[in-house]
Amino acid sequence: MTGCKVRYITAEGAISYDRSGPRIDQIISRYWRACGAYSLAPPKEQGLGAWRIGLESLRYKGQWERQHTIAGIHWFAGEVCLCRNLFPAAGAQCAVLGLIKKALFMRITVMGAGVTGITTAWYLTQSGHDVTVIDRQPGAGLETSFANGGQVSVSHAEPWANPSAPLKVLKWLGKEDSPLLFRIRPDLNQWLWGLSFLRECTAARTRNNIKQMVNLGMYSRSALQALRTDTGIAYNHTTKGILHFYTSDKEFEGAQAPAAIMREFGCELDMKSPAECVAIEPALASNLHRIVGGSMTPSDESGDAHLFTQQLARMCADKGAQFLYDTRIVGFNKSGDELQSLRLASADGVVTEHTADAYVMCMGSFSSHWNKLLGQTLRIYPAKGYSVTLPVINEEASYNVSLTDDEYKLVFSRLGDRLRIAGTAELNGYDTDLNLVRCEAIVKRVKDLFPGITDGVGARYWTGLRPTTPSNVPYIGRAKTRNVFLNTGHGTLGWTHSCGSAAALADIVNGKKPEVDFSFINA
Ligand SMILES: Cc1cc2nc3c(=O)[nH]c(=O)nc-3n(C[C@H](O)[C@H](O)[C@H](O)COP(=O)(O)OP(=O)(O)OC[C@H]3O[C@@H](n4cnc5c(N)ncnc54)[C@H](O)[C@@H]3O)c2cc1C
Repeated sequence: MTGCKVRYITAEGAISYDRSGPRIDQIISRYWRACGAYSLAPPKEQGLGAWRIGLESLRYKGQWERQHTIAGIHWFAGEVCLCRNLFPAAGAQCAVLGLIKKALFMRITVMGAGVTGITTAWYLTQSGHDVTVIDRQPGAGLETSFANGGQVSVSHAEPWANPSAPLKVLKWLGKEDSPLLFRIRPDLNQWLWGLSFLRECTAARTRNNIKQMVNLGMYSRSALQALRTDTGIAYNHTTKGILHFYTSDKEFEGAQAPAAIMREFGCELDMKSPAECVAIEPALASNLHRIVGGSMTPSDESGDAHLFTQQLARMCADKGAQFLYDTRIVGFNKSGDELQSLRLASADGVVTEHTADAYVMCMGSFSSHWNKLLGQTLRIYPAKGYSVTLPVINEEASYNVSLTDDEYKLVFSRLGDRLRIAGTAELNGYDTDLNLVRCEAIVKRVKDLFPGITDGVGARYWTGLRPTTPSNVPYIGRAKTRNVFLNTGHGTLGWTHSCGSAAALADIVNGKKPEVDFSFINA
């Protein structure tokens, strides 16, 4: 959408027009937010006087706060006209605006406060909706979004399911240190997931899945960058690209075909010689003899997903979103094809009903628990992964560029004065116990690659459950239940895809076509 013409009236009464400003929907959303602070809060809390404050005293927060009091919004031929002159009496004005707001915007509940839920809450709040976020944890981003690999990795989008996967998975069966370990269980969901995974391994499906992930990834990275520019959000991010290095000729050879597909879909991905890899990340110097090549994706990024999620949750709260933490969703009340309410249990076990106009499912690996109630199958299975976070104790030995070690399938991100290393995948149900052998194996590999990087002191181990679909492509769109939306199943790339998925979902909720070519559900 193009920028719109906004009429500002400064405190001194001067009128100015600006066409370079934000989009009309962003302006309206900020307008309503600001408005809601005065006119829509319960009179009991705000006092009746608050109802009379009206638009005249509305001041925008942020960039316009110092100079402008907004009095009117005009969009080109004046499609949107909310001029104070229309409603001379402030009280009437607020009541009318309240009614308009009710008609245009919804009360939306986001289920889950991981990176997916919080980005969803952000874009919905920006669109003007009244948003409530519910999570069983005491804060945002405390489950899978807590200590992931940190990579915003658009151009390394090869799905786990690809033509070479079935043989590899068979070879790795029962091997404790394998990068992808299926622990076969008497669990129908696991078996059905496995069969769907096999179906996704054909060349044609792999190609289509890469296309979906690259398209969503590129859109998402732009959305993240725009959000960063607009809000100044800081989360120890680095924009030095991602270098994927190989120590096996066969694997490097095998990486050429998917790289060509990713390039065809628009990724910036350059093959590098061993010497070039070391030039990109000098901390790899002692590995020159074993690196056989690498692929560099200069426009990729990295950053702390947990810090980002927490900061953004705070910004959502500042914009009026409500948060119900320590609150577990224990049931749905459905009538026909509509979700009537959620049953919530507080930390002390008190069960209450919660209603909204619409609901968004962002419950990560736990989304599929609600299959039956949603009347549709979400083929999401948890893939347990590990991470180790180390303090930087030796700057010279530490890497600065985000890296991927192909042999051990480990990713490395620099998060300020910490080093994050993550990887391994185990399909073994919902268990999140830490297996110290696996953690120590990661530290051993890190020491091997970067001598002197750590003395092991201060290492923090973590494990999380990637909400994985067989295709690696998430579910974004409308559920079969009329007033439920889906934004879940982001698997290995939930951080990478979070902003784009949420921005697109907000468009779908608002009845707009998302700006990205992606296979949305029922949209
Ligand atoms: C080891 C590892 C490394 C990774 N590395 C990367 C990477 O480098 N780059 C990348 O893009 N992605 C990476 N990922 C993937 C990424 O972390 C996930 O895809 C992403 O965090 C998923 O976010 P989410 O919001 O969907 O799920 P979550 O963060 O798990 O959020 C779901 C929320 O739902 C809540 N919830 C669930 N059930 C209920 C209930 N009944 N009641 C109330 N609340 C409930 C949970 O408390 C949780 O907060 C990695 C994952 C792992 C495990």
